[in-house]
Amino acid sequence: MLDTIAQLSKSYSRWPDQSEAVKQWQDKGKKVFGYMCNHIPEELLFAGGILPVKFLGDSIPIVDANQYHALFMCYFARTVVEMGLQKGFSKLDGLIGVYSCEGGCNIFQIAAEIVKPPYYQFISIPHDNKREKQEMALEYFTKELNVIKTSLEEYLGEELTAAKIEQAINVYNENRQLLRQVYDARGDKEWPGFTGVEVAEIMNWVVEVPKDEANAKLRGLLAETAARKLPAASGPRIHVSGTLFLDNEIFQLIEDLGGMVVSDDLCMGSRYFWDDIKLPAEKTADKLIEAIARYKLDKVPCSCMCSSYVAEDRLEHIKKLIEKYQVNGVIFAVHKWCDSHQMDRPFMIRQLQEAGLPVLSIEVERNIGDAQGRNRIESFLEMIGGDAHVAG
Ligand code: SF4
Ligand code: SF4
Repeated sequence: MLDTIAQLSKSYSRWPDQSEAVKQWQDKGKKVFGYMCNHIPEELLFAGGILPVKFLGDSIPIVDANQYHALFMCYFARTVVEMGLQKGFSKLDGLIGVYSCEGGCNIFQIAAEIVKPPYYQFISIPHDNKREKQEMALEYFTKELNVIKTSLEEYLGEELTAAKIEQAINVYNENRQLLRQVYDARGDKEWPGFTGVEVAEIMNWVVEVPKDEANAKLRGLLAETAARKLPAASGPRIHVSGTLFLDNEIFQLIEDLGGMVVSDDLCMGSRYFWDDIKLPAEKTADKLIEAIARYKLDKVPCSCMCSSYVAEDRLEHIKKLIEKYQVNGVIFAVHKWCDSHQMDRPFMIRQLQEAGLPVLSIEVERNIGDAQGRNRIESFLEMIGGDAHVAG
């Protein structure tokens, strides 16, 4: 792994109480809030000087958390409760949740009950928000974000002015543009700028640190890798579909076996940054908040939205990436008990197979780890074959 990326890894931790980035931010007298799902309005928090850090979970054994919820929850969500019980979130000033998947919502509320942070809000996002429902959903969600704005202003004792919100949107939009450049560099067929493992690590880091600082580092990283001559993997170019993982094992495994991860539609991947917020002509706080709400509803959807057109729109995103990055095969790596992604999966697999793509579907719990998971990925890479050489 590139030294610069290894250095970035040292600046954050999956455990916010141990994160250098969290400590440095709080040393400046600023607040840090934890969140679990991409659908929260990070820009509004950042406009108020709050550092949003995403819960990444961790590949840890569940010791006490199982007493707090049913066992049919994804392992990622259960580790969030376990980390809460082990004081991993004790330094956070606030938690902000959003109505996403059923399991994630329940878990987040349990975690909030354990952590008892000084600030806590839960946002309701309309799930049925596409096409003919779009304007109605937008009106509702804009009002909801205005409620959050007011509660943040009360908590911080300062106004979130239009200028602060616009500035935060610009920082976040630049971050998205830079991450797309990272993806393009990785996708270069001849001389990729990054490996899939490196990009996975960049994504873990970028959701845990202030975006303005991340932008400066990403610009440096892109300049550094522009001159890098990383030989392309000789094996298949793989798209990984799913949510997020508790470590980088799956990326490492694919690349150790001779393939290369060149694309994804993970919530810790392209679904986090693929679209930009479109700034309104009129830069009032109301219009800017409406722009954030529109972005959240229009962005590449997550299966958790469980409503009309969600699977179709996500499939469209996957197909565009497959073409852009010349993908040879798709691996659906979905968490056990992740109902929303499991429900979309048969439709997605059928559509991709009909489009002529080899597809592997595997279930992830704590990780892939066992020999069976490894063997299935190895066989899949071998089966794609072609000019792909798959090392054992
Ligand atoms: S997969 Fe979807 S619901 Fe789950 S955390 Fe990611 S964006 Fe949220
Ligand atoms: S969307 Fe799936 S992986 Fe993410 S929290 Fe919900 S159940 Fe877990």
